Amino acid sequence: MLPYGRQSVSEDDVEAVAAVLRGDWLTTGPSVDAFEAAVSAVSGGHPVVSTTSGTAALHVAYAAAGVGPGDEVVTTPMTFVATASGASILGATVRFADVDPDSGLVDPGAVDALVGDRTRVVAAVDYAGHPCDYPRLQAIADRVGALTLADAAHSIGGTMDGRPVGDLADITTFSFFPTKNLTTAEGGAVTAKDPALVQRGREFHNIGLVRDPSRFQLRDQGPWHQEVHAFGLNYRLTDVGCALGLSQLRRLPDFASRRAEIKARYDGALAGVAGVRTPPQSPGAAPVWHLYPVRVLDGRRREVFERMRDAGIGVQVNYLPVYWHPVYAELGYRRGMCPNAEAFYEQELSLPMFPDLTDDQVDRVVETLTSVLR
Ligand SMILES: *Cc1c(COP(=O)(O)O)cnc(C)c1O
Repeated sequence: MLPYGRQSVSEDDVEAVAAVLRGDWLTTGPSVDAFEAAVSAVSGGHPVVSTTSGTAALHVAYAAAGVGPGDEVVTTPMTFVATASGASILGATVRFADVDPDSGLVDPGAVDALVGDRTRVVAAVDYAGHPCDYPRLQAIADRVGALTLADAAHSIGGTMDGRPVGDLADITTFSFFPTKNLTTAEGGAVTAKDPALVQRGREFHNIGLVRDPSRFQLRDQGPWHQEVHAFGLNYRLTDVGCALGLSQLRRLPDFASRRAEIKARYDGALAGVAGVRTPPQSPGAAPVWHLYPVRVLDGRRREVFERMRDAGIGVQVNYLPVYWHPVYAELGYRRGMCPNAEAFYEQELSLPMFPDLTDDQVDRVVETLTSVLR
């Protein structure tokens, strides 16, 4: 089965990991610092905390933003559940704003209608790798004293009007799962413009341990001392993962350009094919295409999905509207709340998209799709 996404691991990547395995530091070592600095360098130059996953990055980000009971987080339903559940698990109330019917990106007008005094974070998702309209989202968040968060699990390496992902929102989270734009096996990261927020995130991801003697409340201990002021978890990414990530980051420009080539090849081949619509792109956006989401019209998405899978093409569907998950349905969220997101879900089909996909494989995907549609 041709997968919808997969990692590209080179011999240099393997060698970078092997070198760390032969060394002194498997975790909390120099590769972690180097990887965080390298992520910062491609994402706006703000401080970075690496984490064990993109889900952990979201949990860290919401915790660092002070999200808790009584707070509201406004987000999109067209995402992986972790964008919302990272706030729910901290006791916040999630409010779902509908998406633009064409792009699947959160609609700033819908966000505007939902924000209020309780809104602590407006969390957008760069669906498929396409950055959201952060200037508008920031103005809305600023008006109510909330922070913007970019869930950039799909979009590291992308830019909007020349500004890199990581510099577009107050807080940005990344995922380095194997299908994403670069991988550390499991992994993620948080970056933010406010260094104090990143420091809180760093402590949360390290059990809440405070190591700066000037902040100690217990002043009678010895040089070994560290102490906890707020609860945290262990979300530390290892040196093994960071070595892979560092090596992968050097390849990110090549990954980005190959993904753009594949996007263009699909666009060209599918333009004018009846029964499908290709993904739109805003002026000013330079996405790194994590997904290639086509829309299958005429109620045929399920049939096309099954026939593509039968033909050995590992298509995927991204995503079930988050509030359809039983955990949210049980909290009282009802179908019909975000009709654009639901219509998007009914039609969405992610075609294979990853850097090692060959032109011949792209052509085979297109031929299979067009013959299924006929
Ligand atoms: C992958 C993903 C996550 C979670 O990342 P993991 O590393 O799998 O935990 C969060 N949000 C979005 C939009 C994702 O695609």
